[in-house]
Amino acid sequence: MKIHEYQAKQLLSAAGIPVPKGVVVKMPQEAADAFVSLQGTVAVVKSQIHAGGRGKGRFKEHPEQPGVVVTKSADEARANAERMLGSTLVTIQTGAEGKRVDTLYVEQGLDIKKELYLAVIVDREVGLPVVIFSSEGGMDIEEVAEKHPEKIAREHFDPFLGLQPFQARKLARAIGLDAAAQRAAEAFLPKVAKFFVDQDCSMAEINPLVLTGDDKLLALDAKVTFDDNALFRHKDYAELRDLLEEDPSEVRAQDAGLSYVKLDGNIGCLVNGAGLAMSTMDLIKLHGGEPANFLDVGGGANVEQVTEAFRILLSDSNVKAVLVNIFGGIMKCDTIVEALLTAYDTVGITVPLVVRLEGTNVQKAREMLAESGKKIVSATDLTDAAKKIVATLGA
Ligand code: ADP
Ligand code: MG
Repeated sequence: MKIHEYQAKQLLSAAGIPVPKGVVVKMPQEAADAFVSLQGTVAVVKSQIHAGGRGKGRFKEHPEQPGVVVTKSADEARANAERMLGSTLVTIQTGAEGKRVDTLYVEQGLDIKKELYLAVIVDREVGLPVVIFSSEGGMDIEEVAEKHPEKIAREHFDPFLGLQPFQARKLARAIGLDAAAQRAAEAFLPKVAKFFVDQDCSMAEINPLVLTGDDKLLALDAKVTFDDNALFRHKDYAELRDLLEEDPSEVRAQDAGLSYVKLDGNIGCLVNGAGLAMSTMDLIKLHGGEPANFLDVGGGANVEQVTEAFRILLSDSNVKAVLVNIFGGIMKCDTIVEALLTAYDTVGITVPLVVRLEGTNVQKAREMLAESGKKIVSATDLTDAAKKIVATLGA
């Protein structure tokens, strides 16, 4: 689950991590008021979207307008906010369609001596969280990793013990910070590592982390992502969710208890079990097709869920054929066919449908399909199913 920069900063601040002062803004006049209330000579107006690269991003409606802009007066803040609010920001992370900006964050302008990079993520290979620290802040970290790998330092830490002070010092020395900045990092880094663990993050990225003229460290940007599997431990995160930022069909699927990820192809897949869904997608690709989605209806899907799954699949206008691949284990094959036939009538399926069933009560299920009189192609195994679904689309 992703959240906005201003929300991440509120959480960081509550955890004792220094962030600049800022005001959330939804109207142009509020941006002017915010400029005044921040009492500085400079304020930065920042688009709030679930994507990075805003500073270099530009608006579709105003090609000269950046997504993050430094302003020097209340009038300037208002004028920028007018162009930004309601417009579509395109950055390297949004894709060409961009994202609509409905919220701005107006922040005090800081005296930046140096921009650093800090992130905490999980290193799955090592099985531990890792702090990534670099002297090259404000830039694309992938680019730094490619061109200047020596400028990136890493330190794994035990989630129960946290990042130790000596580890923070090691990181600070590795990227060449001077003594005063090292001391600041020694206080700052363990707090972010603890925040990452306490809040069940899958990522906490601060880019840039700024060193000010008076050697203080502050989180100037904040990108925090929570581990969805831990959301049950944080009921209060529900109110941080911004549904407008999420894919509507993925939201619908979540509500129905389905795991759905939209992709770019044209073959809709309805599968039970994540592993089977992955191999189904692999086989479709192997035989020259492109899956339109990943969809796992789970081990115990009922008629309502299967119907909703079809609705979601078919609401994607790219979908030109649907492959149903079910292994009846806990869920019996005849139950799924019953759901399938009901869904077929209620949803009104007009695209070719190939069904592959295996497992409990498969015989009965196949008979039901054959006797249904509906235009459903049966497949005997996975390869057969993949070949048949690709064939329905022509060469
Ligand atoms: P993004 O990563 O989406 O481009 P950032 O929040 O990192 O957005 O902002 C981009 C750049 O704008 C930063 O690298 C920094 O140089 C500048 N900037 C952002 N906020 C401030 C601020 N409060 N004071 C001064 N400069 C800022
Ligand atoms: Mg940034």
